[in-house]
Amino acid sequence: MSRLAEWRQGRQYVAVAGMGRSGVAVTRLLAAHDIRVYLSDASADRVDAAQALERQFPGLVAAEAGGHDLPRVAGAAALILSPGIPPTAPVVLAATEAGLPILAEAEVALEELGGLPYLAVTGTNGKTTTTALIDHLLREAGRSAMAAGNIGTPLSMVAAQHRRPAWLAVELSSFQLHDMPSVRPTVGVLTNLAADHLDRYRDVADYFADKALLFRNADARSITVSNLDDPSSRLLVASVPGRHLAFSLRVPADGWFDRARGMLMLAGGELISRDRFPLLGDHNVANALAAALAVHATGVSVEAIRRGLSSFSALPHRMEVIGAFDGITYINDSKATNVASTQVALAAMTQPYVLLLGGRHKGEPYRVLLEELQRLAVAVVAFGEAADLIEADLAKTVRCERAESFREAVRLAAALAPTGGAVLLSPACSSYDMFANYEERGATFRSLAEGT
Ligand code: ADP
Repeated sequence: MSRLAEWRQGRQYVAVAGMGRSGVAVTRLLAAHDIRVYLSDASADRVDAAQALERQFPGLVAAEAGGHDLPRVAGAAALILSPGIPPTAPVVLAATEAGLPILAEAEVALEELGGLPYLAVTGTNGKTTTTALIDHLLREAGRSAMAAGNIGTPLSMVAAQHRRPAWLAVELSSFQLHDMPSVRPTVGVLTNLAADHLDRYRDVADYFADKALLFRNADARSITVSNLDDPSSRLLVASVPGRHLAFSLRVPADGWFDRARGMLMLAGGELISRDRFPLLGDHNVANALAAALAVHATGVSVEAIRRGLSSFSALPHRMEVIGAFDGITYINDSKATNVASTQVALAAMTQPYVLLLGGRHKGEPYRVLLEELQRLAVAVVAFGEAADLIEADLAKTVRCERAESFREAVRLAAALAPTGGAVLLSPACSSYDMFANYEERGATFRSLAEGT
Protein backbone atom coordinates (compact mmCIF):
# COMPACT_ATOMS: atom_id res chain seq x y z
CA MET A 1 0.00 0.00 0.00
CA SER A 2 1.28 3.47 -0.81
CA ARG A 3 2.01 5.92 1.98
CA LEU A 4 -0.85 8.15 0.86
CA ALA A 5 -3.30 5.23 1.00
CA GLU A 6 -2.04 4.31 4.47
CA TRP A 7 -2.50 7.83 5.80
CA ARG A 8 -5.99 8.08 4.31
CA GLN A 9 -7.07 4.71 5.68
CA GLY A 10 -5.56 5.39 9.08
CA ARG A 11 -7.47 8.72 9.22
CA GLN A 12 -4.27 10.31 10.48
CA TYR A 13 -3.10 13.82 9.79
CA VAL A 14 0.25 14.67 8.28
CA ALA A 15 2.41 17.67 9.20
CA VAL A 16 3.97 19.73 6.42
CA ALA A 17 6.73 22.23 7.27
CA GLY A 18 7.33 25.21 5.00
CA MET A 19 4.71 27.14 3.08
CA GLY A 20 6.69 27.89 -0.08
CA ARG A 21 5.72 26.42 -3.42
CA SER A 22 6.65 22.84 -2.52
CA GLY A 23 4.88 22.88 0.87
CA VAL A 24 1.74 24.30 -0.70
CA ALA A 25 1.90 21.81 -3.60
CA VAL A 26 2.28 18.75 -1.36
CA THR A 27 -0.54 20.04 0.87
CA ARG A 28 -2.82 20.26 -2.15
CA LEU A 29 -1.74 16.78 -3.28
CA LEU A 30 -2.53 15.29 0.14
CA ALA A 31 -5.83 17.15 0.50
CA ALA A 32 -6.87 15.98 -2.97
CA HIS A 33 -6.40 12.44 -1.58
CA ASP A 34 -8.62 13.26 1.44
CA ILE A 35 -5.70 13.32 3.85
CA ARG A 36 -5.77 15.86 6.67
CA VAL A 37 -2.78 18.23 6.83
CA TYR A 38 -1.31 20.51 9.46
CA LEU A 39 0.81 22.98 7.47
CA SER A 40 3.07 25.48 9.23
CA ASP A 41 5.74 28.06 8.44
CA ALA A 42 8.06 30.00 10.72
CA SER A 43 7.40 33.23 8.81
CA ALA A 44 4.32 35.33 9.56
CA ASP A 45 4.47 36.67 5.97
CA ARG A 46 2.67 33.56 4.77
CA VAL A 47 -0.57 34.31 6.58
CA ASP A 48 -2.50 35.03 3.37
CA ALA A 49 -1.40 31.77 1.79
CA ALA A 50 -2.39 29.93 4.98
CA GLN A 51 -5.87 31.40 5.01
CA ALA A 52 -6.39 30.72 1.30
CA LEU A 53 -5.52 27.03 1.74
CA GLU A 54 -7.84 26.65 4.74
CA ARG A 55 -10.67 28.19 2.73
CA GLN A 56 -9.96 25.96 -0.24
CA PHE A 57 -9.86 22.71 1.79
CA PRO A 58 -12.22 23.23 4.77
CA GLY A 59 -11.89 20.50 7.39
CA LEU A 60 -8.84 19.04 5.68
CA VAL A 61 -6.13 21.69 5.92
CA ALA A 62 -5.15 23.58 9.06
CA ALA A 63 -2.47 26.14 8.17
CA GLU A 64 -0.45 28.33 10.50
CA ALA A 65 1.98 31.12 9.61
CA GLY A 66 4.43 32.55 12.13
CA GLY A 67 5.58 29.39 13.92
CA HIS A 68 5.25 25.63 14.20
CA ASP A 69 3.02 24.10 16.90
CA LEU A 70 5.54 21.44 17.93
CA PRO A 71 3.17 19.20 19.97
CA ARG A 72 0.81 19.22 17.00
CA VAL A 73 3.66 18.25 14.69
CA ALA A 74 4.66 15.49 17.11
CA GLY A 75 1.12 14.04 16.97
CA ALA A 76 1.14 13.66 13.17
CA ALA A 77 1.64 10.44 11.20
CA ALA A 78 4.70 11.94 9.48
CA LEU A 79 6.49 15.23 8.89
CA ILE A 80 6.95 16.31 5.27
CA LEU A 81 9.70 18.85 4.65
CA SER A 82 9.96 21.60 2.05
CA PRO A 83 13.33 21.68 0.26
CA GLY A 84 14.70 24.73 2.10
CA ILE A 85 14.34 23.30 5.60
CA PRO A 86 17.64 21.99 6.97
CA PRO A 87 17.82 18.76 8.99
CA THR A 88 18.81 20.84 12.02
CA ALA A 89 15.63 22.99 12.11
CA PRO A 90 13.78 22.79 15.49
CA VAL A 91 10.64 21.45 13.80
CA VAL A 92 12.68 18.54 12.42
CA LEU A 93 14.31 17.88 15.78
CA ALA A 94 10.87 17.83 17.47
CA ALA A 95 9.60 15.29 14.94
CA THR A 96 12.72 13.15 15.32
CA GLU A 97 12.30 13.13 19.08
CA ALA A 98 8.67 12.04 18.70
CA GLY A 99 9.82 9.19 16.42
CA LEU A 100 7.94 10.40 13.33
CA PRO A 101 9.00 9.42 9.86
CA ILE A 102 10.52 12.53 8.23
CA LEU A 103 10.11 12.69 4.48
CA ALA A 104 11.15 15.18 1.83
CA GLU A 105 8.32 16.61 -0.24
CA ALA A 106 10.10 15.11 -3.26
CA GLU A 107 9.97 11.61 -1.70
CA VAL A 108 6.20 11.74 -1.24
CA ALA A 109 5.68 13.14 -4.75
CA LEU A 110 7.95 10.60 -6.47
CA GLU A 111 6.17 7.72 -4.73
CA GLU A 112 2.88 9.11 -6.00
CA LEU A 113 4.38 9.39 -9.50
CA GLY A 114 4.83 5.60 -9.45
CA GLY A 115 7.38 4.18 -11.83
CA LEU A 116 7.87 7.34 -13.89
CA PRO A 117 11.52 7.25 -15.07
CA TYR A 118 13.59 10.19 -13.88
CA LEU A 119 17.11 11.48 -14.32
CA ALA A 120 18.22 13.12 -11.08
CA VAL A 121 20.97 15.69 -10.65
CA THR A 122 22.82 16.63 -7.49
CA GLY A 123 26.19 18.22 -6.70
CA THR A 124 27.51 21.50 -5.31
CA ASN A 125 27.39 23.63 -8.49
CA GLY A 126 25.71 23.35 -11.87
CA LYS A 127 22.62 21.41 -10.74
CA THR A 128 20.03 23.77 -12.22
CA THR A 129 21.86 24.21 -15.51
CA THR A 130 22.44 20.46 -15.93
CA THR A 131 18.81 19.65 -15.05
CA ALA A 132 17.53 22.23 -17.55
CA LEU A 133 19.89 20.83 -20.19
CA ILE A 134 18.65 17.26 -19.60
CA ASP A 135 15.03 18.41 -19.92
CA HIS A 136 15.83 20.31 -23.12
CA LEU A 137 17.73 17.38 -24.69
CA LEU A 138 14.92 14.92 -23.87
CA ARG A 139 12.39 17.23 -25.53
CA GLU A 140 14.66 17.73 -28.52
CA ALA A 141 14.56 13.93 -28.92
CA GLY A 142 10.77 14.13 -29.10
CA ARG A 143 10.07 12.77 -25.61
CA SER A 144 7.48 14.29 -23.32
CA ALA A 145 9.62 15.62 -20.48
CA MET A 146 9.51 18.10 -17.62
CA ALA A 147 12.07 19.63 -15.29
CA ALA A 148 11.02 19.56 -11.64
CA GLY A 149 12.29 19.63 -8.06
CA ASN A 150 14.52 22.45 -6.86
CA ILE A 151 14.61 23.94 -10.33
CA GLY A 152 11.13 25.48 -10.07
CA THR A 153 8.08 23.27 -10.47
CA PRO A 154 7.66 21.20 -7.29
CA LEU A 155 7.42 17.45 -7.88
CA SER A 156 4.13 17.43 -5.97
CA MET A 157 2.67 19.74 -8.60
CA VAL A 158 3.63 17.23 -11.29
CA ALA A 159 2.15 14.40 -9.20
CA ALA A 160 -1.15 16.30 -8.91
CA GLN A 161 -1.49 16.74 -12.70
CA HIS A 162 -3.77 14.53 -14.75
CA ARG A 163 -1.45 14.62 -17.75
CA ARG A 164 1.95 13.51 -16.66
CA PRO A 165 5.11 13.63 -18.73
CA ALA A 166 6.84 10.36 -19.71
CA TRP A 167 10.22 11.52 -18.34
CA LEU A 168 11.39 13.83 -15.58
CA ALA A 169 14.62 15.79 -15.11
CA VAL A 170 14.85 16.30 -11.34
CA GLU A 171 17.16 18.62 -9.39
CA LEU A 172 17.77 17.40 -5.84
CA SER A 173 19.67 19.17 -3.07
CA SER A 174 21.50 17.48 -0.23
CA PHE A 175 18.75 18.52 2.20
CA GLN A 176 16.13 16.74 0.12
CA LEU A 177 18.26 13.63 -0.34
CA HIS A 178 18.60 13.40 3.44
CA ASP A 179 14.93 12.40 3.64
CA MET A 180 14.34 10.38 0.47
CA PRO A 181 14.60 6.72 1.52
CA SER A 182 13.26 5.38 -1.80
CA VAL A 183 15.06 7.65 -4.28
CA ARG A 184 16.09 5.54 -7.26
CA PRO A 185 16.75 7.47 -10.46
CA THR A 186 17.14 5.79 -13.85
CA VAL A 187 20.25 7.92 -14.18
CA GLY A 188 21.90 9.70 -11.23
CA VAL A 189 24.20 12.63 -12.05
CA LEU A 190 26.77 14.07 -9.63
CA THR A 191 28.09 17.34 -11.12
CA ASN A 192 30.90 18.10 -8.61
CA LEU A 193 31.57 18.44 -4.89
CA ALA A 194 33.05 21.42 -3.03
CA ALA A 195 32.77 22.74 0.50
CA ASP A 196 29.46 24.60 0.86
CA HIS A 197 26.61 25.02 3.37
CA LEU A 198 29.08 24.74 6.22
CA ASP A 199 26.70 26.98 8.13
CA ARG A 200 24.23 24.06 8.10
CA TYR A 201 26.40 20.95 8.18
CA ARG A 202 28.83 19.93 10.89
CA ASP A 203 31.58 19.31 8.35
CA VAL A 204 32.27 18.55 4.70
CA ALA A 205 32.01 14.80 5.30
CA ASP A 206 28.41 15.18 6.55
CA TYR A 207 27.48 17.30 3.53
CA PHE A 208 29.07 14.86 1.06
CA ALA A 209 27.34 11.97 2.85
CA ASP A 210 23.92 13.49 2.05
CA LYS A 211 24.90 13.87 -1.62
CA ALA A 212 25.85 10.17 -1.66
CA LEU A 213 22.27 9.31 -0.72
CA LEU A 214 21.27 9.84 -4.38
CA PHE A 215 22.83 6.43 -4.94
CA ARG A 216 21.50 4.67 -1.81
CA ASN A 217 19.22 2.30 -3.79
CA ALA A 218 21.41 1.86 -6.87
CA ASP A 219 21.61 -1.67 -8.27
CA ALA A 220 23.07 -3.41 -11.33
CA ARG A 221 20.63 -1.58 -13.67
CA SER A 222 21.44 1.89 -12.34
CA ILE A 223 23.42 4.40 -14.37
CA THR A 224 25.72 6.91 -12.67
CA VAL A 225 27.25 9.95 -14.36
CA SER A 226 30.09 11.68 -12.52
CA ASN A 227 33.00 14.09 -12.84
CA LEU A 228 36.36 12.48 -13.58
CA ASP A 229 38.22 15.73 -12.83
CA ASP A 230 36.95 15.93 -9.25
CA PRO A 231 38.62 13.50 -6.82
CA SER A 232 35.88 13.90 -4.17
CA SER A 233 33.18 12.94 -6.69
CA ARG A 234 35.17 9.96 -7.92
CA LEU A 235 35.62 8.69 -4.40
CA LEU A 236 31.95 9.15 -3.61
CA VAL A 237 30.65 7.10 -6.56
CA ALA A 238 33.44 4.47 -6.56
CA SER A 239 31.42 1.76 -4.82
CA VAL A 240 28.02 2.53 -6.39
CA PRO A 241 26.75 -0.55 -8.27
CA GLY A 242 25.67 -0.40 -11.91
CA ARG A 243 27.00 1.27 -15.04
CA HIS A 244 29.37 4.23 -14.67
CA LEU A 245 29.89 7.07 -17.14
CA ALA A 246 32.31 9.91 -16.55
CA PHE A 247 32.98 13.35 -18.05
CA SER A 248 36.19 15.35 -18.12
CA LEU A 249 37.47 18.70 -19.33
CA ARG A 250 41.03 17.37 -19.34
CA VAL A 251 41.41 13.76 -20.44
CA PRO A 252 39.59 11.33 -22.75
CA ALA A 253 36.48 9.90 -21.03
CA ASP A 254 32.95 8.76 -21.97
CA GLY A 255 32.19 12.44 -22.48
CA TRP A 256 35.12 14.88 -22.69
CA PHE A 257 36.36 18.16 -24.06
CA ASP A 258 39.12 17.88 -26.64
CA ARG A 259 40.44 21.39 -26.08
CA ALA A 260 43.10 21.22 -28.77
CA ARG A 261 40.40 20.61 -31.40
CA GLY A 262 37.70 22.69 -29.68
CA MET A 263 35.40 19.66 -29.76
CA LEU A 264 33.03 18.07 -27.23
CA MET A 265 33.34 14.29 -27.56
CA LEU A 266 30.77 11.62 -26.65
CA ALA A 267 31.11 7.84 -26.66
CA GLY A 268 34.24 7.86 -28.79
CA GLY A 269 32.95 10.23 -31.51
CA GLU A 270 32.53 13.95 -32.11
CA LEU A 271 29.50 15.51 -30.43
CA ILE A 272 29.60 19.24 -31.17
CA SER A 273 32.23 21.90 -31.67
CA ARG A 274 32.66 24.30 -28.75
CA ASP A 275 31.65 27.34 -30.75
CA ARG A 276 28.23 25.83 -31.56
CA PHE A 277 27.33 25.45 -27.87
CA PRO A 278 26.18 28.95 -26.84
CA LEU A 279 26.88 28.95 -23.06
CA LEU A 280 29.93 30.79 -21.70
CA GLY A 281 32.63 29.11 -19.67
CA ASP A 282 34.30 25.74 -19.20
CA HIS A 283 31.97 24.98 -16.31
CA ASN A 284 29.08 24.93 -18.78
CA VAL A 285 30.99 22.55 -21.05
CA ALA A 286 31.15 20.22 -18.02
CA ASN A 287 27.40 20.65 -17.47
CA ALA A 288 26.72 19.93 -21.17
CA LEU A 289 28.83 16.77 -21.09
CA ALA A 290 27.07 15.54 -17.93
CA ALA A 291 23.63 16.13 -19.47
CA ALA A 292 24.66 14.57 -22.80
CA LEU A 293 25.94 11.40 -21.11
CA ALA A 294 22.80 11.11 -18.99
CA VAL A 295 20.31 11.32 -21.86
CA HIS A 296 22.47 9.27 -24.24
CA ALA A 297 22.39 6.46 -21.67
CA THR A 298 18.58 6.42 -21.96
CA GLY A 299 18.74 6.09 -25.76
CA VAL A 300 18.70 9.71 -27.01
CA SER A 301 20.65 9.93 -30.30
CA VAL A 302 23.86 11.92 -30.72
CA GLU A 303 22.12 13.92 -33.45
CA ALA A 304 19.30 15.00 -31.10
CA ILE A 305 21.84 15.91 -28.39
CA ARG A 306 23.79 17.98 -30.92
CA ARG A 307 20.63 19.87 -31.96
CA GLY A 308 19.63 20.39 -28.34
CA LEU A 309 23.00 21.71 -27.21
CA SER A 310 23.16 24.22 -30.04
CA SER A 311 19.65 25.54 -29.35
CA PHE A 312 19.97 25.84 -25.56
CA SER A 313 20.02 29.36 -24.09
CA ALA A 314 21.65 30.43 -20.84
CA LEU A 315 19.33 30.41 -17.84
CA PRO A 316 18.48 33.80 -16.36
CA HIS A 317 21.08 35.19 -13.90
CA ARG A 318 23.74 32.59 -14.82
CA MET A 319 26.29 34.13 -17.19
CA GLU A 320 23.31 35.44 -19.14
CA VAL A 321 24.31 37.77 -21.93
CA ILE A 322 21.76 40.59 -21.77
CA GLY A 323 22.97 42.36 -24.90
CA ALA A 324 25.45 44.89 -26.23
CA PHE A 325 24.72 48.59 -25.80
CA ASP A 326 27.09 51.30 -27.06
CA GLY A 327 29.69 48.65 -27.86
CA ILE A 328 29.68 47.14 -24.36
CA THR A 329 28.31 43.67 -23.58
CA TYR A 330 26.36 43.24 -20.32
CA ILE A 331 26.52 39.84 -18.60
CA ASN A 332 24.22 38.98 -15.70
CA ASP A 333 25.65 36.35 -13.30
CA SER A 334 23.64 37.49 -10.27
CA LYS A 335 23.30 33.83 -9.17
CA ALA A 336 27.01 33.88 -8.28
CA THR A 337 26.52 34.42 -4.56
CA ASN A 338 29.84 32.98 -3.41
CA VAL A 339 33.48 33.51 -4.32
CA ALA A 340 33.82 30.10 -5.99
CA SER A 341 31.08 30.80 -8.51
CA THR A 342 32.50 34.26 -9.31
CA GLN A 343 35.85 32.62 -9.91
CA VAL A 344 34.22 30.31 -12.47
CA ALA A 345 32.61 33.36 -14.12
CA LEU A 346 35.91 35.24 -14.39
CA ALA A 347 37.54 32.18 -15.94
CA ALA A 348 34.80 32.22 -18.60
CA MET A 349 35.60 35.77 -19.75
CA THR A 350 37.27 36.22 -23.12
CA GLN A 351 37.22 40.03 -23.46
CA PRO A 352 38.35 42.91 -21.19
CA TYR A 353 35.68 43.65 -18.58
CA VAL A 354 34.65 45.60 -15.49
CA LEU A 355 33.43 43.44 -12.62
CA LEU A 356 30.57 44.49 -10.34
CA LEU A 357 31.35 42.92 -6.97
CA GLY A 358 29.50 43.33 -3.70
CA GLY A 359 26.40 42.89 -1.60
CA ARG A 360 26.19 41.13 1.75
CA HIS A 361 29.52 39.56 2.72
CA LYS A 362 29.44 35.81 3.34
CA GLY A 363 32.79 35.34 5.01
CA GLU A 364 35.12 34.26 2.24
CA PRO A 365 38.11 36.47 1.29
CA TYR A 366 38.06 38.11 -2.16
CA ARG A 367 41.83 37.80 -2.63
CA VAL A 368 41.40 34.41 -4.32
CA LEU A 369 39.88 36.29 -7.28
CA LEU A 370 43.07 38.29 -7.91
CA GLU A 371 44.79 35.82 -10.19
CA GLU A 372 41.79 35.60 -12.55
CA LEU A 373 41.18 39.37 -12.33
CA GLN A 374 44.70 40.11 -13.50
CA ARG A 375 44.02 38.27 -16.75
CA LEU A 376 41.33 40.52 -18.31
CA ALA A 377 39.70 42.77 -15.69
CA VAL A 378 40.04 46.50 -16.34
CA ALA A 379 38.53 47.46 -12.98
CA VAL A 380 36.34 46.28 -10.12
CA VAL A 381 33.40 48.37 -8.93
CA ALA A 382 32.62 47.54 -5.30
CA PHE A 383 29.14 48.15 -3.88
CA GLY A 384 26.96 47.21 -0.92
CA GLU A 385 27.90 46.14 2.60
CA ALA A 386 30.98 44.25 1.44
CA ALA A 387 32.55 47.24 -0.37
CA ASP A 388 35.14 48.01 2.36
CA LEU A 389 36.33 44.41 2.56
CA ILE A 390 36.50 44.14 -1.22
CA GLU A 391 38.61 47.28 -1.46
CA ALA A 392 40.89 46.12 1.33
CA ASP A 393 41.42 42.77 -0.42
CA LEU A 394 41.81 43.92 -4.02
CA ALA A 395 42.70 47.62 -4.38
CA LYS A 396 46.46 47.15 -4.10
CA THR A 397 46.53 44.89 -7.16
CA VAL A 398 43.64 45.90 -9.45
CA ARG A 399 41.88 49.19 -10.05
CA CYS A 400 39.02 49.34 -7.56
CA GLU A 401 36.26 51.97 -7.51
CA ARG A 402 33.42 52.37 -5.04
CA ALA A 403 29.78 53.09 -5.70
CA GLU A 404 27.24 54.17 -3.10
CA SER A 405 24.25 52.67 -4.87
CA PHE A 406 23.68 49.82 -7.32
CA ARG A 407 22.58 52.29 -10.00
CA GLU A 408 25.81 54.24 -9.59
CA ALA A 409 27.81 50.99 -9.68
CA VAL A 410 26.36 50.04 -13.08
CA ARG A 411 26.86 53.58 -14.43
CA LEU A 412 30.47 53.66 -13.25
CA ALA A 413 31.21 50.21 -14.69
CA ALA A 414 29.76 51.27 -18.07
CA ALA A 415 31.96 54.36 -18.06
CA LEU A 416 35.11 52.34 -17.25
CA ALA A 417 34.51 49.49 -19.72
CA PRO A 418 36.43 49.77 -23.01
CA THR A 419 34.58 49.57 -26.33
CA GLY A 420 34.33 45.90 -27.28
CA GLY A 421 34.57 44.96 -23.61
CA ALA A 422 32.00 43.85 -21.04
CA VAL A 423 30.34 44.74 -17.77
CA LEU A 424 29.99 41.60 -15.66
CA LEU A 425 27.71 41.36 -12.62
CA SER A 426 29.08 38.37 -10.70
CA PRO A 427 28.90 39.72 -7.17
CA ALA A 428 30.24 36.83 -4.98
CA CYS A 429 27.89 38.05 -2.23
CA SER A 430 24.28 37.56 -1.31
CA SER A 431 21.85 40.27 -2.39
CA TYR A 432 19.96 40.73 0.87
CA ASP A 433 21.52 44.07 1.82
CA MET A 434 19.89 45.80 -1.19
CA PHE A 435 17.43 43.39 -2.85
CA ALA A 436 14.81 40.78 -1.98
CA ASN A 437 16.85 38.06 -3.73
CA TYR A 438 19.38 37.43 -6.51
CA GLU A 439 16.62 37.43 -9.14
CA GLU A 440 15.64 41.01 -8.25
CA ARG A 441 19.30 42.07 -8.34
CA GLY A 442 19.69 40.52 -11.82
CA ALA A 443 16.48 42.08 -13.10
CA THR A 444 17.59 45.51 -11.83
CA PHE A 445 20.93 45.07 -13.58
CA ARG A 446 19.12 44.20 -16.80
CA SER A 447 16.90 47.24 -16.71
CA LEU A 448 19.82 49.57 -15.87
CA ALA A 449 21.86 48.05 -18.71
CA GLU A 450 19.02 48.37 -21.17
CA GLY A 451 18.51 51.96 -20.08
CA THR A 452 22.11 53.02 -20.74
P1 ADP B 1 23.18 25.20 -8.78
O1 ADP B 1 21.76 24.86 -9.15
O2 ADP B 1 23.95 23.96 -8.36
O3 ADP B 1 23.32 26.35 -7.84
P2 ADP B 1 23.47 26.63 -11.31
O4 ADP B 1 23.37 25.84 -12.57
O5 ADP B 1 22.29 27.42 -10.89
O6 ADP B 1 23.93 25.65 -10.14
O7 ADP B 1 24.73 27.61 -11.41
C1 ADP B 1 24.99 28.53 -10.35
C2 ADP B 1 26.37 29.11 -10.47
O8 ADP B 1 27.34 28.08 -10.20
C3 ADP B 1 26.71 29.61 -11.87
O9 ADP B 1 26.43 30.99 -12.01
C4 ADP B 1 28.19 29.34 -12.00
O10 ADP B 1 28.92 30.44 -11.50
C5 ADP B 1 28.45 28.14 -11.09
N1 ADP B 1 28.51 26.85 -11.82
C6 ADP B 1 27.60 26.33 -12.67
N2 ADP B 1 27.99 25.13 -13.14
C7 ADP B 1 29.18 24.87 -12.57
C8 ADP B 1 30.10 23.77 -12.64
N3 ADP B 1 29.85 22.70 -13.39
N4 ADP B 1 31.23 23.85 -11.90
C9 ADP B 1 31.50 24.91 -11.12
N5 ADP B 1 30.68 25.99 -11.02
C10 ADP B 1 29.53 25.97 -11.72
